[in-house]
Amino acid sequence: MDKKFIYLDHAATTAARPEVVEAMLPYFTEQFGNPSSVYGFAAGNKKVITDVREMIAKSLNGNTQDIYFTAGGTESDNWALKAAAEAYGAKGNHIITTKIEHHAILHTCEYLEKKGFEITYVDVDEYGVVKLDQLKAAIRPETILISVMFANNEIGSIQPIAEIGAIAKEHGIIFHTDAVQAYGQVPIDVQAMNIDMLSASGHKLNGPKGIGFLYIKKGLKLRSLIHGGAQERKRRAGTENVTGIVGLGKAIEIAMATMEERTAKEVKMRNYLIDRILSEIPYARLNGHRTNRLPNNVNISFQFIEGESLLIMLDMKGICASSGSACTSGSLDPSHVLLAIGLPHEIAHGSLRLTLGDENTMEEMDYVVEELKAIVQRLRDMSPLYEDFVKKNR
Ligand SMILES: *Cc1c(COP(=O)(O)O)cnc(C)c1O
Repeated sequence: MDKKFIYLDHAATTAARPEVVEAMLPYFTEQFGNPSSVYGFAAGNKKVITDVREMIAKSLNGNTQDIYFTAGGTESDNWALKAAAEAYGAKGNHIITTKIEHHAILHTCEYLEKKGFEITYVDVDEYGVVKLDQLKAAIRPETILISVMFANNEIGSIQPIAEIGAIAKEHGIIFHTDAVQAYGQVPIDVQAMNIDMLSASGHKLNGPKGIGFLYIKKGLKLRSLIHGGAQERKRRAGTENVTGIVGLGKAIEIAMATMEERTAKEVKMRNYLIDRILSEIPYARLNGHRTNRLPNNVNISFQFIEGESLLIMLDMKGICASSGSACTSGSLDPSHVLLAIGLPHEIAHGSLRLTLGDENTMEEMDYVVEELKAIVQRLRDMSPLYEDFVKKNR
């Protein structure tokens, strides 16, 4: 291996592409003007922002005026849920979401519960796909909002978004989706899928951190997130993050243009990893569906193993991986997503998430499997549980 380390944590964050950084650089220096200024050199920056907005709208089949730049996925999720709850609270106080959402959604829902909203957390099946019959049954006259993530960040399960959009539309309920993991990985059409609001983030698709957007369909009466100047149609005031917007634009442009070949390459590596791990390491199980998953997501539970020890030993071999979501690591609670698909605590604890990027290689996949085999064996050899198990089954 000639690289310093093998990065397999693209669901946590990605490196900005060199083209992204290059596109951003002039906007720190020569083209530093405030987009709201009238003189020519600054006004050019207004045009650049509009161009990126237009490109993003096209990528989703939405309208240009419906794209609002934010500071990332978490901000978009917070804005969407809190503002919709406030705006439509008089109509009803019930919100439907799922048990497998990112904490940007779940913790916002907890906050809204304290404010008097009732939240239904719909179950998912064993593959991590939301149960549509349960979702439908949860709808009440007071339901104002449904928020279901497009694809899960831990196990990669892709949700039936078009079906949920149709259900929401039929009942006149606003539909928001956290598409932070899916955008740039799978095709999205906000009109065909009846999506009213959609969150996305730059740093999950090889753009800069701290920039993202919220799509808000025309006609939704959401309050402004930040009050001040007239930026973002007065809904998110403050001088625009021009460099971030330019970087986000370049990252999206590349992600959309390369989606097909990039994800085909990732699927090949993903399937290779899954096949080898499941066939060469005993007492391992794949979390999430075999094919209905993000092109770059692998999530495996190893029995008799502690996920954190596995991560530390992989790190010593130069492999960057995750035990669930970056937000969950550091706490001892097993992942809420793995519990939601029905894994018992002890198996959820022995889980490993590997998320690929297009710079990864098959050679790296081979290295990872070989190291993983050795590490899992070493950890099991130290485990009294495994010793008992082997004795019992001899
Ligand atoms: C990373 C992530 C977020 C948070 O996005 P930030 O830009 O880091 O705030 C939200 N939802 C999902 C599904 C994510 O994977």
